Amino acid sequence: MDRSRIVESILVLTHADETGSALSKASLEAITAGQDLAARTRETLTIGIVAADATTLSKGLPSTKLLAVSGEAFAQPRYATDAAACEALCRAAGASIVLVPAGARFSRVAAGVAYRLGGAIDTHITAIHAGADGLEANRWFYRQRVEAVLTRDARPWFLVLDAGTHAPFVPGEGSPQIETVAVHLPALRTTVTRIQSPKQDEQTIRPDAKMLFVTGAGWTKKQPDGQTHVDEAGNLILAFLRATGASLGSSKSLVDQGGDGNSVLPFLTHMNQIGQTGATPRHAKGLSTCCHGEEPHVVGWRFIADRRAISLDANCGWTRGKADVVYVADAFQVIAKLNELLAKEK
Ligand SMILES: Cc1cc2nc3c(=O)[nH]c(=O)nc-3n(C[C@H](O)[C@H](O)[C@H](O)COP(=O)(O)OP(=O)(O)OC[C@H]3O[C@@H](n4cnc5c(N)ncnc54)[C@H](O)[C@@H]3O)c2cc1C
Repeated sequence: MDRSRIVESILVLTHADETGSALSKASLEAITAGQDLAARTRETLTIGIVAADATTLSKGLPSTKLLAVSGEAFAQPRYATDAAACEALCRAAGASIVLVPAGARFSRVAAGVAYRLGGAIDTHITAIHAGADGLEANRWFYRQRVEAVLTRDARPWFLVLDAGTHAPFVPGEGSPQIETVAVHLPALRTTVTRIQSPKQDEQTIRPDAKMLFVTGAGWTKKQPDGQTHVDEAGNLILAFLRATGASLGSSKSLVDQGGDGNSVLPFLTHMNQIGQTGATPRHAKGLSTCCHGEEPHVVGWRFIADRRAISLDANCGWTRGKADVVYVADAFQVIAKLNELLAKEK
């Protein structure tokens, strides 16, 4: 079907962040994506807000059609209320393209809402553009090794956007008009009593951090004095993470050591692993320590813009063209010194 002749109606779904007083960062990124797409395709753009109080959240949003589902029931993430809210917004907007911010809240309802509306959904979308035959969406497969360009005839087409692929929209001045959308809620069986989450410094995986800090197996190996210094390594790494707010990644060799109930560095799990069989995060900078820089690991650094490494081995994989800067040095000494300087800065 030649979609270039079909008029699309673009809806960006958004929700409040944990404070309830601002839109989530992923929602702001989705607004940028929606604005770009609407400008390029000259299609209509609607922004839909799900929040306890949408009036505050709409301040400074672009002057486009704004729809909102408001009320206490929408203050907390809950499948029944979020799905009903998103469905009502899609119907009210007559949306054919629905941009959804990735994140725990909407990722879990988006497929259900697409099903209710008889539409289709694709996740992990990184870019959307107008192709010769209508809209095209890009996503990556096989640990970001293969990039696919998708088109679909089914409408509404839900596109769940990967976080970090668009700059967050910066709200300006003004209070645009909002149209309130009524929602018929089903009987609610779930009561949200509270959110229980690990303390900030226990959460070592921080997708929004500017820097990725990678630890390799070298931290647990015998050092020049013939001894291992695992406790010291753990303290240095945690102090560095606390001071910088960096996200913690690891080589496979290091996280594998923590198997069978033997925790080597207790804050590391397989979730931290970067690489071919691990994660491929997006950060502006990356600092690798005590890691050799082998190809199955470095492939996970695909979206790290500025790469640096500290290794004792002047002949390691990083020095062979995989990092922008390599410090041939003892990471224990370098990180201890860095922590000292960071502490002084505070
Ligand atoms: C199919 C397949 C998939 C794989 N997938 C992944 C993956 O997803 N992710 C991944 O990481 N690996 C993966 N691997 C494993 C990968 O090939 C490497 O074995 C692994 O990355 C090596 O980890 P490392 O560099 O931490 O350890 P090592 O190779 O042991 O390197 C340790 C480094 O630390 C340095 N060092 C020691 N002490 C210090 C010090 N004081 N200061 C500075 N440097 C020091 C040493 O010089 C050495 O270079 C995969 C392998 C296969 C076969």
